[in-house]
Amino acid sequence: MKSGDLNSRNALRSFRATSERLGTGLNNATDFFSPDYTTARARFRAAAQAGGAALHALALDARGPGGEALTIDIAWLGDAPARRILLHTSGLHGVEAFAGSAVQLALLDRPPRMDADCALVLAHVLNPYGMAWLRRANENNVDLNRNFLGDGEAWSGAPDLYRRVNHVLNPPTPPASDFFHLQALWLMLRHGFHPLKQAIAQGQHEFPRGLFFGGRELQQGPRRYLEWLRQNLADARYAFALDVHTGLGRRGEDTLLTEAGPGATPIARLGAALNRRLIDVTREDSVAYAIRGGMGAMLPRILPGVAVDFILQELGTYPPLAVFHALREENRWHHYGTGGLDHPAKRQLREALCPAAPQWRAQVVARGIELARAAADWTFRTREQ
Ligand SMILES: [Zn+2]
Repeated sequence: MKSGDLNSRNALRSFRATSERLGTGLNNATDFFSPDYTTARARFRAAAQAGGAALHALALDARGPGGEALTIDIAWLGDAPARRILLHTSGLHGVEAFAGSAVQLALLDRPPRMDADCALVLAHVLNPYGMAWLRRANENNVDLNRNFLGDGEAWSGAPDLYRRVNHVLNPPTPPASDFFHLQALWLMLRHGFHPLKQAIAQGQHEFPRGLFFGGRELQQGPRRYLEWLRQNLADARYAFALDVHTGLGRRGEDTLLTEAGPGATPIARLGAALNRRLIDVTREDSVAYAIRGGMGAMLPRILPGVAVDFILQELGTYPPLAVFHALREENRWHHYGTGGLDHPAKRQLREALCPAAPQWRAQVVARGIELARAAADWTFRTREQ
């Protein structure tokens, strides 16, 4: 038996134990996954209304493949305004939204217990264009988790190493076999895996058709979302923001990334409260990489007077090179093909970031619910107010 099999068996066992505790089964968990953006949005809105949530919709000036309207939908459960808020977000990276959306439907199905002055706020699909079109980037090819630059940060530049490997990362041609894996191996031998990963993934502002493009201005989705947060969270004292992504890490497992901003709970203390290891992405030895323009660093800046903790929950899918290759081919199809959904590059990217395997789907919903419930316990009850 390979160790991978053993890990996935252990994960399945732990999932079954969790689902027994939570009263949800394997079938229920996979049922929370939707086939497309339009279905996910309709289900989210219906479940929020059925659960008595207040619903907000932030409309974007962009359309889905069927001409459909695109909105960021926000469900507010509990008191409004509230002093203690758990803010749960999905789909900042578009096509990664399928898992986060499923977790949010599961949370609406069985919301955590809340006391007075507490609210659970679910923001569904922060990049609806990306989910609808099966892209990680938004309608302007912007990677939204590189788009939250602070005042005084330049909307320009790219790491020098990114410039040097740009022709391999972003060939200006439709998808085709071009010995990518050999080229990637050569680059890794020449530059080293970690320096290369850092240079490619930290974000760049020079190649507007390239991967990890941070944009040249704050995008409409993030702008409307931040305005909404400013208006609706101004009376809060504490906000715990939990942002769900997929891709990085071991299949079916989750990695929790954080960066301690001013006013945040010390990482060791928050980790102990959640009974999880938290990884500080600003540290050199991090398994992840430091990024520029991430959403986590922006939240305390736009919510002065609110103590903010932020965790990015990354749910593992496939090895990094496989995920990267799928991103690269889809990006070529978008810019140099028709960009239509009926192409292997689209199907492969969706599989890379939302595997069809029922076991993976069940595992990540269980991981998502478990972390959200631990975060709710901490936010609504444990943390001193
Ligand atoms: Zn992501």
